[in-house]
Amino acid sequence: MGAFAGIARIRRDLDGLAREGLLRARRTLDSPQGPSVLESGATLANFASNDYLGLANDPRVIEAARDALGRYGFGAGASPLVVGHTRSHAEAERAFAAFTGLPRALLFASGYAANLGILAALADRESAVFADRLDHACLVDGALLSRAGFHRYPHGDLAVLERQLAASTARTRLIATDAVFSMDGDVAPLPELLALAERFDAWLVVDDAHGIGVLGRGRGSLAHFGIASERIVYMATLGKALGGYGAFVAGAPEVIEWLMQRARPYVFSTALPPAAAAAATAALAIVAAEPERVERLLGHVATFREGLAKAGIAGSSPTAIQPVIVGDASRAVALSAGLRERGHLVPAIRPPTVPAGTSRLRVSLSSEHSPAQVACLVRDLAETLAA
Ligand SMILES: *Cc1c(COP(=O)(O)O)cnc(C)c1O
Repeated sequence: MGAFAGIARIRRDLDGLAREGLLRARRTLDSPQGPSVLESGATLANFASNDYLGLANDPRVIEAARDALGRYGFGAGASPLVVGHTRSHAEAERAFAAFTGLPRALLFASGYAANLGILAALADRESAVFADRLDHACLVDGALLSRAGFHRYPHGDLAVLERQLAASTARTRLIATDAVFSMDGDVAPLPELLALAERFDAWLVVDDAHGIGVLGRGRGSLAHFGIASERIVYMATLGKALGGYGAFVAGAPEVIEWLMQRARPYVFSTALPPAAAAAATAALAIVAAEPERVERLLGHVATFREGLAKAGIAGSSPTAIQPVIVGDASRAVALSAGLRERGHLVPAIRPPTVPAGTSRLRVSLSSEHSPAQVACLVRDLAETLAA
């Protein structure tokens, strides 16, 4: 036992988390992602992953990565502006711009890094950032990092946002929103947000981590709504439906050039491994060529929602993310454990990921689940919740 008070304080705080049912533990998988995974010797139906289209283990994605490994080796070796930018990265950026119909794209090391970079490069002390209360943590962190005035509006409450914008005298205004909210699966009213951005001369930063590959026949939330504007800065991650790692930011050529010059996580961080860029290009080609994957996923979403409604369970969303809100953190953990005993991997999501009192089971659906897997989950969810 050391005498350092810092360690003792952390031990007390960890004990506190444990008492409140907030201590997290990792599962260690012994298989790739897929509709089923192997954990601690058990094969479980996987309703926990963001691999919505089954691309994380697609042979063509793997082959593209393998080919890039042969050509470029593994590590990028430097930040993109020094010598870490390869043909593989350039091709991925071009492919993403073409896929979304946006003028230019830039490949970041992760969605988290991209949002930090966007917010801190576009906003400063003279700016104001307006963010939905349920926005992802990295949009919040980006706003804080930018040192801009920071205003949060209640989830989806455009009337409050409008008042906040009208009251702002900031030189630069920036609205930041998840397109699909990561813990609820609901879709932001992007056309209305764009109209407000136009009226109040603001940027609109759209985080489409859970919309890319799912909405707009896979092409994302902007395609879903049919909107475009040079004031939209569009961010889509590779770690969810696209089955890989990294993120794209796309938008007006000037914005992308500015981010390349000034987004600190872009400038001061090692470029993504070229194989990850090649995997992204391959994943985009698959989404474009196989719209039936998205259709299968949306079919499962419909089946799941009908099943929940029949069982009288509240919740459900139009996307791959299906929240079943239970409130108490310990109850969410117990329900998740009950479902695991029945062979389903369904995570309990607790604070700080969601607001206190809204702990939930979060079901993530994939195009690669079988109809039987989805039906079985609905039945077991209903029984577990009723028990
Ligand atoms: C996962 C996620 C991110 C972070 O993306 P990574 O590439 O995993 O860093 C950002 N925003 C939202 C809404 C997310 O769900």
